[in-house]
Amino acid sequence: MKFGRFIMNSDCATVDNSFSWLEKRWGYWKFDRRAADLYDRGGLVAFRDKFVVPENVKSVKLTVTALGVFEVYINGKRIGNDEMKPGWTDYRFRVFEFDYDITDLCRTSGENNLVACVAPGWYAGRIANATYSNKGAALRADVTATDNGAAFCAEITVTDNDGHTTVFATDESWETTFGGRVRTSEVWDGELFDARENDIFKNPDSYEWKHASFCDYATCSIVPHVGETVKIKRKDLSPVSAVVYNGSNDNGTDFGEINLVSKRLGKGCERGTVKAGEKLVIDFGVEFTARPRFKLYAPKDTKVRVYCGEMLNDSGLISRGNDGPKGSLYIDNYRSALSRIEYISNGEVAEYSPAYTFFGYRYLEIVPDNDVEILYIVSDIIGSDLKRTGKIETSNAEVNKLIDNIYRGLESNYLSVPSDCPQRDERLGWTGDTQIFCGAAAYFVNAYGFLSKWMGDMRDSQLESGSYPFVAPTTFPENKKSYSAGAWADAGVIVPYKMWLMYGDKSILEDNYASMEKYMDYVYTTNGLEGPMPHFGDWLAYEDTPKNYISICYFSYDATIMEKVSNLLSKPERAEYYAKLRADVNGYYINQFVENGEFKVKSQTAYILPLAFDMLEGELKEKAVAELKARIVDNDYTLATGFVGTGLLNQTLSKVGLDDEAYSLLLQTRDPSWLYSVRQGATTVWERWNSYTLENGFGAVSMNSFNHYAYGAVAEWMFASIAGIKPIEEYAGFEKFMLAPIPDTRESIPEGQERITSVKAEFESKMGLVKAAWCYENDEFVYSVTVPENTEATVFFPLLSDKKSVNINGLDFAEFNIENGKMIFNLGAGEYVIKS
Ligand code: BGC
Repeated sequence: MKFGRFIMNSDCATVDNSFSWLEKRWGYWKFDRRAADLYDRGGLVAFRDKFVVPENVKSVKLTVTALGVFEVYINGKRIGNDEMKPGWTDYRFRVFEFDYDITDLCRTSGENNLVACVAPGWYAGRIANATYSNKGAALRADVTATDNGAAFCAEITVTDNDGHTTVFATDESWETTFGGRVRTSEVWDGELFDARENDIFKNPDSYEWKHASFCDYATCSIVPHVGETVKIKRKDLSPVSAVVYNGSNDNGTDFGEINLVSKRLGKGCERGTVKAGEKLVIDFGVEFTARPRFKLYAPKDTKVRVYCGEMLNDSGLISRGNDGPKGSLYIDNYRSALSRIEYISNGEVAEYSPAYTFFGYRYLEIVPDNDVEILYIVSDIIGSDLKRTGKIETSNAEVNKLIDNIYRGLESNYLSVPSDCPQRDERLGWTGDTQIFCGAAAYFVNAYGFLSKWMGDMRDSQLESGSYPFVAPTTFPENKKSYSAGAWADAGVIVPYKMWLMYGDKSILEDNYASMEKYMDYVYTTNGLEGPMPHFGDWLAYEDTPKNYISICYFSYDATIMEKVSNLLSKPERAEYYAKLRADVNGYYINQFVENGEFKVKSQTAYILPLAFDMLEGELKEKAVAELKARIVDNDYTLATGFVGTGLLNQTLSKVGLDDEAYSLLLQTRDPSWLYSVRQGATTVWERWNSYTLENGFGAVSMNSFNHYAYGAVAEWMFASIAGIKPIEEYAGFEKFMLAPIPDTRESIPEGQERITSVKAEFESKMGLVKAAWCYENDEFVYSVTVPENTEATVFFPLLSDKKSVNINGLDFAEFNIENGKMIFNLGAGEYVIKS
């Protein structure tokens, strides 16, 4: 199927769209977010076809896609259960098609009515930054909403029992119009729904249709979907508490505090009447990416505004970053994203949930302009439908909370693309965040298809020159600075390698190898051994590391990966080339950053990187390890790293034998640390270590997301080191693997911390379910494991005190190798309890 075949476009425009001020905004801007209503764009672009199906029908198949986000109905019934179709790709090059069997939805007497609506979505909404649609609405004041380039393409294939096939494909006989109850829908801004309008799906004849015309600007190929589609993953999450308030009272602060009318707890707490002038704030207890779904009754013409928020104002003080009275929704950090629903009632009881957008939130604030009876408000979790494969739990409740938060961050941000955050005016496929977190993600879920799809976006968005972007799909194709950013662009090399390591499928390497080589060549020819362009550095770190330092280290890592991948793909000369490149980069690094045996740059991240990437040897390596340790101890066991350093921190500490320090950082609760944000009330991982502190309030509003998974990369260490479930490179995909637990055996423990005394983890590898759990029984360390069929595990069993033997399933063994206090032996498939 090709777009060239036919696309319906928008010359059916009827509304006058003088663009609002908001069109031009991106990023933080001081404005009254509540006052800025959604603009009624007069509905969505719609298409339809009427077709007949014979009595002896065997099957009716629909293949369909659109530029924009689409919904398609037949005879008033929704087709399929995929959301945010067709997903986000670099629409200049490819868009996914969807196949549905619609036989049961078709009737054989009379006409069938297929109706589709297309919202701007990632294709032409503000998020697209006018990248894909040459008629893009974003940033252009002269385009009307109807002229946003939304396009649609479909084929209906009817086969009868005699084997005859008729195809109804989009062409000039299809019709188009503009309208429906969804008046505006935008990824960042939300949805305006007017229930007074005719339902275009149920009652298409209430609109005036005209013949559609050929779309001559769609240049992309239509291809089968790669990876999982977006789905509603869990439905009906109820709020845990609700307050109704009316205005504010003076509490001696700038905004005061809400004037409480009522407060309710538990299931059903949101139900009841909210009067005009009152606001209902509901709390779902945790943050997620979802769509609110509500049922209400309000007199005709009532407008109900539903705002999303991640936090509540905590005092009313501007000095603490508050944007409203204590107890009200804090929304400034959504920046220009209006992120809301506006619902206009037709006077009937109705259920509604937005269909073309999604939100990141924990709280909703419902503001009706007339009395409204709320029958219920729930949330439906939305995201790419990835299979959960990993779970881990420890004896420490706060660590468990952190693990939940990390997983929630993953679920919230793996939505068609791996995004930085799901709420403000970004939600972009930031490449740095992706490479930093993908190792952890690959334990929690099967991320292979999802990230293979994303690597397609990387390849599509890669410049002719070979440079990779800092967000994929790119939304900044013209901006040179958005390419080749150190530790960000390198995701193009790192992600395929990590996916191969965890899943053992070489095709991701084969599919990307040429593109990876192109990137390496580009970097080398433009910047030599300095590697990718210094850009973000150790983003949001508490101490500085020179940006070019980070780029050089990453270039060394890239070369190491390229050497391995070249060997795997039987390209020995290329492997040799990268081995040399790597040696050259490492030599250059020493030349630049080591003087008389001393490291010139002394941040935690500066030691982490060359150790993580095996750039040091001998005494220099020992020195780096010792100085890194001192850097952590002297910092009172708090980390000082940003995105880059944190992504590798504990993994690297364990790699070089600093397990105690890794535990002390994990269990730290002071600022900055993972558990610090847990203690400040986090239910997801935050963008900043101090996005919110009980002591000082909200962090800098221009960059303050409460759902940013990058720091959650530490979960990779938890699975691989605490529980010990670890891949082996020579047997990628867990064909053989390690069981190498690292118990918390710290002798001196930083104040306020307690040792972790047990862990329980499982990981469903492609070979089967791996289980690993440990605890102490009397004086013995007990490790219980499951090795799936057709695999083998090498166990590195930690011997406590001077023990020299292990007991496996009741039998004693003393003859195994002992290295560095670990007894090493192999186990075939089975369940084992190992003690010593
Ligand atoms: C995003 C990040 C991203 C960064 C680049 C931010 O605006 O939210 O997650 O990696 O920019 O430094």
